[in-house]
Amino acid sequence: MQKCTACNLPETYETIEFDENGVCNICRQKDYKDEKINWEKRAQMLAELVEKHRGKYEYDCIVPFSGGKDSTYTLWYLVKKFKVRPLVVQFNHGFMRDTLMENNRRTFKKLGVDVISFTPNWKLVKRLMLETLVRKGDFCWHCHTGIFAYPMHIALKYQVPLIFWGEPSSEYTAYYDYEDEEIECVDETRFNRFINLGITAEDMYGMIKDDYQCDPRELSPYTYPPLRDLKRLKYQSVCLGSFIPWDVKANTKIIQEELGWRGDQVEGMPWDEYSYEKIECSMQGMRDYIKYLKRGYSRVSQMVALDLRNERISKEYGDKLVAEYEGRKPPSLTLFLEYLGISEDQFNHIVAKTVVPPFKPDFDNMEYAPKTHDFDRWYREDEQDQGIIYKAKVE
Ligand SMILES: [Zn+2]
Repeated sequence: MQKCTACNLPETYETIEFDENGVCNICRQKDYKDEKINWEKRAQMLAELVEKHRGKYEYDCIVPFSGGKDSTYTLWYLVKKFKVRPLVVQFNHGFMRDTLMENNRRTFKKLGVDVISFTPNWKLVKRLMLETLVRKGDFCWHCHTGIFAYPMHIALKYQVPLIFWGEPSSEYTAYYDYEDEEIECVDETRFNRFINLGITAEDMYGMIKDDYQCDPRELSPYTYPPLRDLKRLKYQSVCLGSFIPWDVKANTKIIQEELGWRGDQVEGMPWDEYSYEKIECSMQGMRDYIKYLKRGYSRVSQMVALDLRNERISKEYGDKLVAEYEGRKPPSLTLFLEYLGISEDQFNHIVAKTVVPPFKPDFDNMEYAPKTHDFDRWYREDEQDQGIIYKAKVE
């Protein structure tokens, strides 16, 4: 596979393109961001945006919150630097881990904020995971659409127009770039292009209704609210990272010191180097594993690429981490198969259909990654609840 000569990302990476020197567009974008963006002007825009909304509604803004480093930093920054009164909105995807929950409790208490937490029906979640795994080789539809759409429903219910997300997507991909002076808008266009895998909640209802007992209203947390309602609210849904430089390592250090935020072990990752990334979900290892089977790289490659780009590690060290950690089978696979009621062969068969050439996964020779410290506490289904309870069985 062709790889970027600077950061090593392979040609199977989404949105990647290489220039004549073999350097990828994401590396090029970083050069632009460092050299040409007027961060002072953007900081001014941020201050104006906050002042425009301050004190006019029940809350000054809404902060969608996972408890990961980015949303935690975003909340800390807005409360400490701007003294806003935020409404924190949390969509619980069903796989939140102990360390994360402890972090969240501590953060909410230390910052003194109001929080709404929403957990959708687990039985439906499993059915949605299976459906999108089979159709797209990606089981995270319920989580991505829910996290993205649910806070917008809350914005409407409370009539709070300003919504602050954390990191802009241009840090990792070239879907959006910094080159136009526009501020990246987290809106329905992005929802339909990048978040929902091309499957709306209405489509989804049609896909599952024949075999799964489901009230169409159960899908509403996964719908994007009507645009006319959001426009009437004069909503502004933006990323804090569009206004201030986003340095993940520096941000993480701040929340560790100020909020006692703790990282965690993530399956398939070097725990000492990257303890702060994607600690939100016990199925993260599965997501990374599927990415590896499909595209020939996993999270460790992505993190190494980011560090190479920022000249934080040597290429030799990066290669060593990738060689040691990439493409290991996560212990959570067992739980995942039990949730969905499928065998590993069935799983491999489903994923094989979504492989991006020229990569060819070797399904038979995947070694297991070690178990994380909390693995034995992750949710397990009783035997009678494993898999999806289909309509036929229910009736
Ligand atoms: Zn690159």
